[in-house]
Amino acid sequence: MPRSSFVDFKAVKAAITMVQVLEHYGLSDQFKKSGDSLSGPCPIHGGSNPTQFRVSISKNIWNCFSKCKQGGNVLDFIAKMEKVSIHAAALKAIEWFHLDPEAVKANSEKDEERPSEAPRGKTESAPKPAAKHPVENGMPNKPLKFRLEKLEREHPYLTKERGLTLETIVDFGVGYCAKGMMAGRIAIPIHNPEGNVVAYAGRWPGEPAEDTPKYKLPPGFSKSLELFNIDRAIKEPGDTPLIIVEGFFAAMMLHQHGCKKVVALMGSTMSAAQEELIRKHTTSESQVIVMLDEDEAGQAGREDIASRISRFCFVKVYQFTEPGMQPEDLYAVDLSALLNP
Ligand SMILES: [Zn+2]
Repeated sequence: MPRSSFVDFKAVKAAITMVQVLEHYGLSDQFKKSGDSLSGPCPIHGGSNPTQFRVSISKNIWNCFSKCKQGGNVLDFIAKMEKVSIHAAALKAIEWFHLDPEAVKANSEKDEERPSEAPRGKTESAPKPAAKHPVENGMPNKPLKFRLEKLEREHPYLTKERGLTLETIVDFGVGYCAKGMMAGRIAIPIHNPEGNVVAYAGRWPGEPAEDTPKYKLPPGFSKSLELFNIDRAIKEPGDTPLIIVEGFFAAMMLHQHGCKKVVALMGSTMSAAQEELIRKHTTSESQVIVMLDEDEAGQAGREDIASRISRFCFVKVYQFTEPGMQPEDLYAVDLSALLNP
């Protein structure tokens, strides 16, 4: 959680919408949408007239025509609701909506380049927190209260460079994000075992410049607590081997090839929490195939992972024939031979 007092208010304002904020307060049901505006009773002064408070969705601003007789932007709204300063409201927004602290850090040069229009995200009702979620060094990742919308599904990075079909892309909910904290990146939703989205990972489409990270994760999110695609892998038959890979795209590609019981570590090591998740969803009869990339990190990681998993189920380490190979390089026929020896 960002504790710095330097917050770029513009960036925070651009990253969240009034719709998301109303959803956060559980007020969405009280508002009616008509064209570009939402109207409802004013939550600030607690009125009851259903037209006294109006939100312009595209401008991302609000107005109370009744008692308050004023309006403002998203941060003004949170500040009024919480009875705090704009600065405190921005810090709350960063926390509630898992904004990237780097992206909202005050930087006067970048200020003017920020998009003034916020992404319009239709929000879904907040899922219940996962009670039995593994915890490592603190709290479990909370389910997100918003969804990134208007993602570009048929982005060439996904279709041409990664060879994903539209079906796979839609199935995993990935897509190119034009606005907000994942702007310019491929947004990949990460679900917890209960199927709630707990974060979006942002993959730079292609090779990023030196100072740009390939992947961006939201602040406060612990990827070591999750296994990508676990929510769906655990619904596959118990006698099908579970394949463990490193990355998102390896998991998506194996899934596309018909190996749907696949999870990704989101790295080449397995955390204690990830081990516990695998243990919880396997039996002593289960088979696990560890399929890490054929590089130094993968080779080092797979030995450790295999020895730890072998304590509670059957493990096979998959070794590629060529150095540098990754699960994405396998064909459906190789995989079917692997799963049905
Ligand atoms: Zn009011």
